[in-house]
Amino acid sequence: MSERCEVVVLGLGAMGAATVYQLAKAGVNVVGIDRHHPPHNLGSSHGDTRITRLSVGEGAQYVPIVRNSHRIWRELEALTGESLFEQSGLLVLTSSAEFDPEDPTDFTLRTIGLAQTYGIEHEVLPAEQIRQRFPQFANVHDSAVGYFEPGGGFVRPERCIDVQLKLAEQQGATLYKGETVTGISSNEEGVTVTTDRRTLFANKLVISAGNWNGEWLGEPYENLLTVYRQKLFWFEVDENAGLVGHSPTFIFTHGRGDDKINYGFPALPGESSMKIATAQYHTATSAQAIDRTVSAAEARDMFEHQVQDRIAGVTSKVLKSAVCAYTVTPDRHFIIDEHPSLQHTLFVSACSGHGFKHSAALGEAFAQWCMRGSTDLDLSSFSLKRFEGKLS
Ligand SMILES: Cc1cc2nc3c(=O)[nH]c(=O)nc-3n(C[C@H](O)[C@H](O)[C@H](O)COP(=O)(O)OP(=O)(O)OC[C@H]3O[C@@H](n4cnc5c(N)ncnc54)[C@H](O)[C@@H]3O)c2cc1C
Repeated sequence: MSERCEVVVLGLGAMGAATVYQLAKAGVNVVGIDRHHPPHNLGSSHGDTRITRLSVGEGAQYVPIVRNSHRIWRELEALTGESLFEQSGLLVLTSSAEFDPEDPTDFTLRTIGLAQTYGIEHEVLPAEQIRQRFPQFANVHDSAVGYFEPGGGFVRPERCIDVQLKLAEQQGATLYKGETVTGISSNEEGVTVTTDRRTLFANKLVISAGNWNGEWLGEPYENLLTVYRQKLFWFEVDENAGLVGHSPTFIFTHGRGDDKINYGFPALPGESSMKIATAQYHTATSAQAIDRTVSAAEARDMFEHQVQDRIAGVTSKVLKSAVCAYTVTPDRHFIIDEHPSLQHTLFVSACSGHGFKHSAALGEAFAQWCMRGSTDLDLSSFSLKRFEGKLS
């Protein structure tokens, strides 16, 4: 006997939690399934904080999405009393001997350009002002440029997932946690989802399985998704440096190439640490094989190459570390599209390491897709079509 529902959501991380919440809120009979117990630290949505900003240097197509997310985080805060979105202010800066102020690929310059185009409140800061206002970046080159977005900051991913799942359940969603989807098939009438405990039949399915997504996309598309292990570090701050309560969220480009960009979060009152990380795209892994421990050598390397002589007031002592994973497409943009072979199924990639800020709004859009087959947001640039002719 199979259970029946209107929609099944596979995976209840950032994307799935937002989707089941929006569906349940709209009165849809939805079942969410997760192999773990979200929020958990085995996917892509853990580590206390995620950057959010209106001027999304990754591309103009993201600006309307993140605007909707900011609205929804505030709605969720009002509903639950939880603090989810901290407008700590966001500093994006480039300081490098090789900096070319005409370089169209520079992340800070792209961010400034988008803010100007979309009328996003911001300030452009020359080196002197960066040093004055943010003494932790006192070592910047004279040619450095900064972008400060006062409304930017961070969201708390575990809390965001938790409140959306709780609200979804309160509004009638059924959530099966600790249960793994093992098979999917579809026909004209709907989708059959098999788990290690039951079979469900639904009108629609949303697949948002994060790092595990490759197994559901099928050949040749699965090759579009590569999983990269990432490390997060919470460095102890020098208590005399005045960083606690006075530091912004930041993205710091200090040279050319992925390994010359780091990002970090404010040192918050009550916490004597600053979370700082960088991203790597050279060594691939898989959801099954990922090494979840961070070695002392990795912590030392991070401090020496990303922190030392760049961010003042941060000591080399690591108070906490974590491993998380990006699932990245060849152009580092999202894949959001109807599944290439399964009917009635929407496929949502884990969003190439920059999806959390958009997740609340995307959940709202995915719920619209389930209910009426279209979305208010234009998601066409995330279609699989862009890879046609490029697949092996
Ligand atoms: C280190 C790091 C830093 C990041 N920083 C930022 C940032 O600053 N700003 C930003 O916007 N974004 C950031 N991101 C990206 C963002 O966090 C991700 O895009 C987003 O969290 C992905 O959410 P998801 O729902 O796709 O995946 P997940 O949250 O991982 O959820 C997938 C879920 O699917 C479940 N699942 C998988 N397979 C099955 C199955 N067979 N059956 C049942 N359940 C299954 C898993 O258990 C999991 O809970 C960062 C990511 C990482 C890793």
